[in-house]
Amino acid sequence: MSKEQMTTTADDAIITVRNLSKYFDDFEALRDITLDVKRSEVLCLIGPSGSGKSTLLRCLNFLEQYDGGEVHLDGELIGWQDISHNPRKPLSGEALRKQRQHIGMVFQHFHLWPHMSALDNVAEALTSVKKLSKKKAKEAAMAALTKVHLEDKAENYPANLSGGQQQRVAIARAIAMEPQVMLFDEPTSALDPELVGEVLSVMKDLAAEGMTMVVVTHEMGFAAHVADRVAFLDSGRLVTCVPPEEMFGREPDDARVRSFLQTYR
Ligand code: ADP
Ligand code: MG
Repeated sequence: MSKEQMTTTADDAIITVRNLSKYFDDFEALRDITLDVKRSEVLCLIGPSGSGKSTLLRCLNFLEQYDGGEVHLDGELIGWQDISHNPRKPLSGEALRKQRQHIGMVFQHFHLWPHMSALDNVAEALTSVKKLSKKKAKEAAMAALTKVHLEDKAENYPANLSGGQQQRVAIARAIAMEPQVMLFDEPTSALDPELVGEVLSVMKDLAAEGMTMVVVTHEMGFAAHVADRVAFLDSGRLVTCVPPEEMFGREPDDARVRSFLQTYR
């Protein structure tokens, strides 16, 4: 990264993405993405299927190793050893786990442990990663479940929870770790329509509390009402990143954005 680019980084940015590129073999999944996420900002990522939304999100916590450019979280380079190393070496093991602790992620499918209660699902990483005592972990897990309004379901196993409740447990599990940023990859896409609202409502509360969030979503109502900015991806490129009023409020200039949004009208 050049000095010039460094100095243009906004002071209040918690995530900075600079000239990010990602290939799957010869296929260019992300091209030259430059983007900031500010503290307490909600950034929604929208765009057609296959445009690179999940890949971008996964690069933000190094679930994907990127090929060019840089991602920083709170000034720290994500996923790679010291920037002065050439070629850069990917972080692994404990170092990567430590970095990921600051980033919570919620997926389309909830990935809960089926053999553990809701409470134990949330408490697990608090003991294994954060090294809290069992008692402290359970207290923190209960507080997180209360935040997502599931305190009365703490002893339920995933099989005895609805999809919406399971996703709220997954959100509780992530927020219990007290991350600096939460990433959501289509958190409501696997849910029956009547269960979408309860999950979006919990996400809205989190946003109102000042959590920094990057949300891949097809819920245009959520993006319009909760996002501070909406980014549109197409074929691995960042087409535009603007406030929701601009994205949804008038006829978009870009033909790709126009045709995408038409399918939601
Ligand atoms: P989106 O989330 O916007 O639907 P993705 O980020 O999942 O898009 O995928 C972007 C492109 O990269 C797609 O063309 C997809 O097929 C390709 N891709 C994603 N993951 C892999 C992978 N592990 N191996 C090869 N190609 C992939
Ligand atoms: Mg995706």
